[in-house]
Amino acid sequence: MSSKPPASSPKNNDSAAPASAGDAAEHKVSNFLRQVIEKDLEQGTYSQRRWGGSPGDAAHHEAGQPDPARIRTRFPPEPNGYLHVGHAKSICLNFGLARDYGGVCHLRFDDTNPEKEDTEYVNSIIDAVKWLGFNWESSVSGKAETHLYQASDYFDFMYRAAEHLIEAGHAYVDEQTAEQMRINRGDFGKPGVDSPFRSRTPEENLARFREMRDGQHEDGSMVLRAKIDMASPNINMRDPAIYRIRRATHHNTGDKWCIYPMYTYAHPIEDALEQITHSFCTLEFEDQRPFYDWLLERLTEGGLLKAPPPRQYEFARLNLTYVITSKRKLAQLVYDHKVSGWDDPRMPTIVGLRRRGYTPESIQLFAERIGVTKSDSWIDYSTLEGCLREDLENKAHRGMAVLDPVKLVLTNWAEAFGADDYTEDCTQPALPHSAIAEGQTPPPDRVFKIGKQVWIEREDFEEVPPKGYKRLFPGNVVRLKGGYVIECTGCAKDVSGTVTEVHAKVIPGTKSGTPGADSVKAKAAITWVSVASGVQAEVRLYDRLFSDPQPDAGGKDFIEALNPNSLKVVTAYVEPSLAAAKPDEKFQFERFGYFVADRVDHGVGGKVVFNRVTGLKDSWGK
Ligand code: ATP
Ligand code: MG
Repeated sequence: MSSKPPASSPKNNDSAAPASAGDAAEHKVSNFLRQVIEKDLEQGTYSQRRWGGSPGDAAHHEAGQPDPARIRTRFPPEPNGYLHVGHAKSICLNFGLARDYGGVCHLRFDDTNPEKEDTEYVNSIIDAVKWLGFNWESSVSGKAETHLYQASDYFDFMYRAAEHLIEAGHAYVDEQTAEQMRINRGDFGKPGVDSPFRSRTPEENLARFREMRDGQHEDGSMVLRAKIDMASPNINMRDPAIYRIRRATHHNTGDKWCIYPMYTYAHPIEDALEQITHSFCTLEFEDQRPFYDWLLERLTEGGLLKAPPPRQYEFARLNLTYVITSKRKLAQLVYDHKVSGWDDPRMPTIVGLRRRGYTPESIQLFAERIGVTKSDSWIDYSTLEGCLREDLENKAHRGMAVLDPVKLVLTNWAEAFGADDYTEDCTQPALPHSAIAEGQTPPPDRVFKIGKQVWIEREDFEEVPPKGYKRLFPGNVVRLKGGYVIECTGCAKDVSGTVTEVHAKVIPGTKSGTPGADSVKAKAAITWVSVASGVQAEVRLYDRLFSDPQPDAGGKDFIEALNPNSLKVVTAYVEPSLAAAKPDEKFQFERFGYFVADRVDHGVGGKVVFNRVTGLKDSWGK
């Protein structure tokens, strides 16, 4: 993988802001896509382009003005599921490059397939792109423009373009069965065989195609094919199908059409109508590029589209260890109830990452750091987690929580402070000194109580300590972090031998931040929450969803790779500053790592609910 650190971390910029001549780009690590763009800008490849103010054909753009956008990119999701971390890479790439080079990025719903699409997904995609910090507004033309498009709005043009191809002798209606077509396509070692319908006249083809459109033929009974070369070494050029009959209600166009364009035909046209300059896609489309170019050349020479045509460039898709990036497979996890929904915090969907506690900044940083390459590779999940830690380190307020509580009783409390129910305030900084930038005002201190009884971690007491153990065991002296130094005296146990209470003596005059704090040396400082001010919380300890680093590689059944321990729910105690969290607020639970107040369940019915985002880099020492 390429993991050069970026020169600066990306900001939540407005993609509409007209960047001054590659200004933002100067601070970014270069990559082959940046080089392509820079070369095109230098050579003025697209400087003669015109923009009609909206997508359209050659005449529409001809009537417009010179395109004020220096480049146009697009993010074209199919609205058939929720976006995942792989899409996030593509979003950051397309919107980021447009922003950096004074261009515009379009959000386009690639909704040409009527069967699988849904407005629920459309809305979730809009939310995801916005949440990541991008938008499709631009003001490069001097007036506000919204570049949110749907490919199904281009069906009329696509149909017209198909008739043009037929009339020019570049397309024909094929009535072979799907099986015959498959056999006659040949394979890598064998050229294809011409369809018996290939030599029909344009008039015959046009009549047939119109019958297809008018619903006079059964679904699947015939297709429109481009007429290119049945002997081409590239199988995608052996007369690919471009239109099929499918009686299905489309979420945008309803029942207007019973024929639909194939993706490989629709996509280049969508790019061209929108005057896209650089069409970035993942490597699996590399073999489609000759057809992409062929089609746009035919339609440009026919005067339907404006030259110069967009160009397609391929980059390696994101493969992340322990993660699945396929909408279809993620959908299976949801529909088979392997997870609680698309936004389950274990899901690599953008809504899942968000609920897990990921920030837009951390995902942008990740996209920047992994860069773009031309060959497939796997990115280690720790790279993503590392970006999040980096982002939260100086942002997330600290707090103490006890995740596996056992009660500690300070048996001499009344003797030391006059009464068993005496409590005292302790204060600790919300952020360590190192997290506060020059000139920044530190946030107010956290305040929590100490009293006779406190919750501590069960693992912080050992009746018979293993070698090197520094925490509580009879006779050992430790500090309750931010509170007093205590000396352990023993414990109480139930009949089964389980420790029910730990006993210790408080040493007065040793409170943190007071002159006597260092008068007694403690072997360790342990985290705690007082019974007096602690609040019960549900803490969801998430772990990786899959136990296999490549859960679906090589056609493996990813369901078998599910980690049975990916979620453990515990009843914990947290200090008051944590209990007062707003949904989505992130904290560092001292010693445990980063946690987020669950955006769905936290606060409902007064419940305190946290999700573990990720552990700390260095696990808490013994
Ligand atoms: P899926 O197989 O999950 O449905 P897709 O590629 O079919 O993914 P689209 O909605 O068509 O999903 O993708 C929109 C854009 O996101 C495309 O340009 C695609 O190349 C890009 N994309 C999808 N998955 C990844 C990935 N893992 N890494 C980088 N880009 C991706
Ligand atoms: Mg797809």
